Amino acid sequence: MRRSARRSRTVSAYREDGRTIVLIPARMSAAEEKRWVARMLDRLEARESRQILGADELVARARELSRKYLGGRAEPRSVRWVTNQNTRWGSCTPSEGTIRLSHRLQGMPEYVVDYVLLHELAHLLEPDHGSRFWALLESYPRTERARGYLEGVVAARLPAQRESH
Ligand SMILES: [Zn+2]
Repeated sequence: MRRSARRSRTVSAYREDGRTIVLIPARMSAAEEKRWVARMLDRLEARESRQILGADELVARARELSRKYLGGRAEPRSVRWVTNQNTRWGSCTPSEGTIRLSHRLQGMPEYVVDYVLLHELAHLLEPDHGSRFWALLESYPRTERARGYLEGVVAARLPAQRESH
């Protein structure tokens, strides 16, 4: 992180020699700084993951996530993007081992797409959102952060509430 006295308002971030540089105004408070760094890292990751995974790559990714976080117990047969899912980020058919991801996830940070994929993989094992379901997601370190990101996306799209006078 580099603080710059010349920088009065703008924050920017880029990668340099494998490191991430975040430029922030010198006057920013520690709390603001923390918020901005997280936001800029999300943006960087989103930019980098713009490259959209194809069906084969999605299945490979899903198998990798299953192996890493679910002991390989979830065995997806197909994973594909769909454009008709506007209220859900993902869905699955456990009896067929098929997973569908909303195209609205495209361009979001990789950890968010991974979370939705892992969420659907967990549904192949546990259909309901009970405690056993959430226990399956416990080993994925970014569950809370990904859920927060998706809630933020939903909130940002709701029409702004009018103030009453
Ligand atoms: Zn679910």
